[in-house]
Amino acid sequence: MSQTPEHLAAYLTQEPRTYHGWDPVNEAMIRHWCDAMDDRNPVYTDPVAAAQSVHGGLVAPPTMLQAWIMRGYGGEWGPGSDRREPFAMLEELEKLGYPAVVAVNCEQEYHRYLRPGDRVYYRSRIESISEEKTTALGVGFFITELGEYFNQDHEPIGTMRFRVFKYRAHPAQQSADPRPAPSEKPAAPQRMRPVRNRDNTFFWEGVDRGELLIQRCGVCQTLRHPPSPMCPHCQSLEHDTVKASGRGVVHSFVVMHHPAIPPFDYPNPVILVELEEGTRLVSQMEGLPAGKIRIGMPVEVVFREVEDGLQLPLFRSAEEA
Ligand code: ZN
Repeated sequence: MSQTPEHLAAYLTQEPRTYHGWDPVNEAMIRHWCDAMDDRNPVYTDPVAAAQSVHGGLVAPPTMLQAWIMRGYGGEWGPGSDRREPFAMLEELEKLGYPAVVAVNCEQEYHRYLRPGDRVYYRSRIESISEEKTTALGVGFFITELGEYFNQDHEPIGTMRFRVFKYRAHPAQQSADPRPAPSEKPAAPQRMRPVRNRDNTFFWEGVDRGELLIQRCGVCQTLRHPPSPMCPHCQSLEHDTVKASGRGVVHSFVVMHHPAIPPFDYPNPVILVELEEGTRLVSQMEGLPAGKIRIGMPVEVVFREVEDGLQLPLFRSAEEA
């Protein structure tokens, strides 16, 4: 294995870059987050209960750390931010022949609670670059970005380490390289293939057979989705599955307009279905324009091969039935 190239190592000693959030910590974003996560801890959303807690008032969920400094759709951070990319070295690696990238893992640590009105900024630097490594995906470098988060008084809030693998795919997997060779006509973009792993293979094999399966705890019988190794209710690792009826209702939906990412058609409605068994899954509605979708609408599953070799559970309105 070769050593880390010297010009990459130079990134390790660069000054951290500072990025500011657009909005102060605020109750509206906290409420949306708690709603999406189904986190009902009252210290986040109930001012009366929060006042009586050890916090003495509302606080933000620590896991929202990154939410406060997300950039806008145009790609810009809040006023006063560094205008350079925190991960600029990835572009350099592309020029060196490592075009593909995959996120590896993310670790967060929390030091202090944030409260409504606080302003957040973070400092980003490249913490580590591996030597060139060979993995099942290809040959490349593991790169870790360290983000250190602070409030308006420059007190540390937390840290986030985000690790990626920037690589050149093995020859057999050159299709993973998003850039076509110059002479080739670019292939039509395809949907991301679901990653099948030990925890979720049962689900996708069910979809292949035209069955919608729900994971069930082997001890307390609680149903859960998406598939995961441990029961969140009783922490058992035992599980089996039940076959869903395929009926449910639209629990929520969004209609994506921007940014338009191939291969989807826009506007692109994405629905969250609550199955009659009680679990929810994200899917798409078939045969209904975005403007006709509404919350509470009864739906039923249909299995469709949306692209060659990719069968997905979609839903259609069950109202006529
Ligand atoms: Zn359980």
